[in-house]
Amino acid sequence: MVDLARRNFFKAKSIHTKPAIRLPYVANEDTFIENCTQCARCITSCPENIIIKGDAGFPEIDFARGECTFCNKCIDVCDEPLFNHVDSAPAFDLHIQIKGNCLAVNQVFCQSCQDSCDTEAISFRYLDSSIPQPQILLDSCNGCGACVSVCPQASIELSPHTTLTKVGEINECS
Ligand code: SF4
Ligand code: SF4
Ligand code: SF4
Repeated sequence: MVDLARRNFFKAKSIHTKPAIRLPYVANEDTFIENCTQCARCITSCPENIIIKGDAGFPEIDFARGECTFCNKCIDVCDEPLFNHVDSAPAFDLHIQIKGNCLAVNQVFCQSCQDSCDTEAISFRYLDSSIPQPQILLDSCNGCGACVSVCPQASIELSPHTTLTKVGEINECS
């Protein structure tokens, strides 16, 4: 059931949110902010418990809590027009990087992230080091986030491609 009063409340305001990872297959940030009613059903539906109430009350994914298994339960419980068809686009449009505090980068053996990655997007090579160094094959990464919570250094950063701090400005009531 769509809460029109709540939706119009959001549409009547300019909404400023920090960049965040939204649900899988969300069409884009503007569409999400304009149409999400903050009903929170996606939050309670996620068996992995990785969806949280984030900035300005909008749901976002926290991969520090676990991985997305692409079960689509959060999409199935949502009545709003937020999503691309699940077969027409990647589930997530994310930037991924390994930060400088990685154990392997600092010459301590660790390959926990590789072991967690089902798509084999993370590999280790010797390069100029006696400790194998991690590399991410971006084309193989599906953004599941499984590597994030297993890293003992919190070295893997998944972030939305946008760097804007203002992602929605909606001034019209409908
Ligand atoms: S697709 Fe499934 S695991 Fe992924 S965020 Fe939605 S409910 Fe959670
Ligand atoms: S799990 Fe973390 S610390 Fe270990 S190699 Fe991967 S990124 Fe580095
Ligand atoms: S986010 Fe990418 S690199 Fe990390 S486990 Fe998932 S597919 Fe592998």
